[in-house]
Amino acid sequence: MSIAGDKASSREIKLGKLKIGGGAPVMVQSMTNTDTRDAAATLAQIQRLVDRGCEAVRLAVPDGEAVKALREIRAGTNIPLIADIHFDWRLAIGALEQGLEGLRINPGNLGGEKALERVTDAAKAHGAVIRVGVNSGSLEKELLAKYGHPCAKALVESALGHLRMLERRGFDAVKISLKSSSVMESIEAYRLMRKESDCPLHIGITEAGSLKRGSVKSAVGLGILLHEGIGETMRVSLTCDPEEELLVAWEILRALGLRRHGPEIISCPTCGRTEIDLFSLAREVENALADSCAEIKVAVMGCVVNGPGEAREADLGLAGGRDKGIIFRKGQIIRTVRGQANLLQAFMEELQKLLAGEMV
Ligand code: SF4
Repeated sequence: MSIAGDKASSREIKLGKLKIGGGAPVMVQSMTNTDTRDAAATLAQIQRLVDRGCEAVRLAVPDGEAVKALREIRAGTNIPLIADIHFDWRLAIGALEQGLEGLRINPGNLGGEKALERVTDAAKAHGAVIRVGVNSGSLEKELLAKYGHPCAKALVESALGHLRMLERRGFDAVKISLKSSSVMESIEAYRLMRKESDCPLHIGITEAGSLKRGSVKSAVGLGILLHEGIGETMRVSLTCDPEEELLVAWEILRALGLRRHGPEIISCPTCGRTEIDLFSLAREVENALADSCAEIKVAVMGCVVNGPGEAREADLGLAGGRDKGIIFRKGQIIRTVRGQANLLQAFMEELQKLLAGEMV
């Protein structure tokens, strides 16, 4: 049974002012790939991510120099920031002291129980959230021996072990991620975890691959989980510029009817009836709208079979034809244009007018 959008089965925690879980909308996050020690470059990338709808940003904090840079980074943006820490508990404490709202740690590799105690006590004092991140590539040896190989049950057992470590310290502002590059293993792990705990779950398919292949894997994996009401925060992890991840994440949420951000573009695949250069037109429209936050619907259709119907339903639509194209605005024909070059120019003019109208 579909329970898409039912997020009430998780407890609520707060990352800065941002509510996670307890029925809050699924939060979209990403991660910088700049050198965190370069505060200016990192801040510039954070702003580009924010412009594309990112709601929390994770940064790798590999050393003391990176911790120092966090001060300038924290001062330069309002978005909640999460420090990704491995192996050295002092870096975690440093990140909290610089005002970061969250930590992503693997509690098993921070340097033992004492180190974990220090980190959880500091997180509690600073009101920060801890994400326990379990990854199939770095499971504990005992679990690999018990299960024979990385699997969903091993991921969940590892996460529950870490969760108990934190709960023993009285720390419950926790979210959990269970990452596997196998889509089906990730789905199974998150389903099992949801039965075991009401901690908010950060979902993602790790190491999903390049823009095209990774987007497909992420859409299938995250789409199924979100449709079942599993997942309070999400990241699409792709081998490409992190700004690309946001578009994919928001398209997944839009497709499921959970959240909207930015324009919706409808374009037909073309076929033997197409008599205009629809690929170029669709590409121009996509480029023109790449950084837009306007919640508009634009349709670019190749012929008069399905074209007028879709174009009429959009805020701005185009239906191509043999020697002319028809442009619709909110259901009304506003222009009939002859010639491919004129059509592209006319449509882009109308698009700019629509965008200008959206901004006032
Ligand atoms: Fe072909 Fe027309 Fe459908 Fe586009 S809208 S795929 S051109 S029939």
